[in-house]
Amino acid sequence: MSDKTEAEVLREKLAIRNEHFMKDHADEIEKADAFCEGYKAFLQRAKTERECNKAILEKAASLGFVPFDPFGSYKPGDKVYVDNRGKSVILCVFGKKSVAEGVKIVASHIDSPRLDMKPTPLYEDTELAYFKTHYYGGVRKYQWAAIPLSLHGVFVKKDGTVVPVCLGEEAGEPQFVITDLLPHLAKEQSQRTLSDGIRGEELNVMVGSRPFKSDKGSELVKLNILKLLSEKYGIDENDFTSAELEVVPAFEVRDIGFDRGLIGGYGHDDRVCAYPAMEALYSLDVPAYTCVTVLADKEEIGSDGNTGLASSFFRYFIEDLAEMEGVKARHVLHNSDCLSADVTAAFDPTFPQVFDKTNSSFLNHGVSIAKYTGGRGKSGASDANAEFLGKVRALLDKENVRWQIGEMGKVDEGGGGTVALYLANLDINVLDLGVPMLSMHAPFELVAKTDVYSTFRACQAFYQQ
Ligand code: MN
Ligand code: MN
Repeated sequence: MSDKTEAEVLREKLAIRNEHFMKDHADEIEKADAFCEGYKAFLQRAKTERECNKAILEKAASLGFVPFDPFGSYKPGDKVYVDNRGKSVILCVFGKKSVAEGVKIVASHIDSPRLDMKPTPLYEDTELAYFKTHYYGGVRKYQWAAIPLSLHGVFVKKDGTVVPVCLGEEAGEPQFVITDLLPHLAKEQSQRTLSDGIRGEELNVMVGSRPFKSDKGSELVKLNILKLLSEKYGIDENDFTSAELEVVPAFEVRDIGFDRGLIGGYGHDDRVCAYPAMEALYSLDVPAYTCVTVLADKEEIGSDGNTGLASSFFRYFIEDLAEMEGVKARHVLHNSDCLSADVTAAFDPTFPQVFDKTNSSFLNHGVSIAKYTGGRGKSGASDANAEFLGKVRALLDKENVRWQIGEMGKVDEGGGGTVALYLANLDINVLDLGVPMLSMHAPFELVAKTDVYSTFRACQAFYQQ
């Protein structure tokens, strides 16, 4: 005989459950922690879209993935990749069914908010040398001052040579910083609004302070930096013209809290979904459906551009798959399902005023589904069909995946979008889900290990249908 009260029995039967992972998945906690060790190593190594692209392709190649040949022919279990300009990746494992029955897609992004160089960034002022920057994506500018920064990216020389740059990550390497005012002299600055606390034109990165010898002439500190850059990278000031250099936080990825339940790091958004998506794909043997992971660039600035998901590169890949089987791409797209795996805001007890607690996502409650995104009347949203959401939640329950559903903040408090709408506009069934997080877009973001693992399990269940 059950010792539950009638009310408890009825509640279990009728009410939605939104509980901590430990309530019913405690036996998986070691697996979750182990999975996150791999993720932490990936996040530490891959701080830009180019570095993610490289890390992903290296792993894919080691697992037998080969470059996709649109004129080739493939059998179930074959593994291919498309490297789109070194900044976005498509991974694909061919399934037993015809692509005419649709493919299973998980889409995430591998770019993160950061500071990009201006075209002519290096300047000297008062015997100090700086890089001028233009921020990329939704950064809260005041968070980027007075923290250690590193420099990542490439110079492309006129002869086509690509010179990679990664400085400030290894122990002992120099780092960079943006200065802020001392409180003693910040009376006027402190009157600014928070969004104006540090202005775009104040995001100047300190890169040097010593002049070239004691020669005559002006801007000897800048000249000395050019000399050092020439010695280290073989470049001159003109090479900044064709460079993509990104300044990112130099923080290390670390466990957070006495219980090590959380991971702090830069760029969780959206590598924390990209990593589970690709690991789920890697875990496949011979799937029933052809399975695709697309890890895109440019999401943080609206997905436009030839490495973003608003461009046609993904549709062209599906067209190639369709043509191989002599079927129409639009029929493949119409029958395809996609999880748009991106982060969402977790309820923050310090700032409860911006959340509707009944419709929030919570750390450690599992992968979070968002039926719709957007803001202010669902504008800019991809709003998933109830029928598709019904299929996905049944699948997650069947595979015992810990999940929750929420929306990002109170109505009219703000909002945000993902790549979902670009895929939905291709006539694909799309649902947003992903890892809930604290301090989104900050230089040091927080996620829970159990949610990262639950997202992996969700992607795996989706691929293994
Ligand atoms: Mn994102
Ligand atoms: Mn974002």
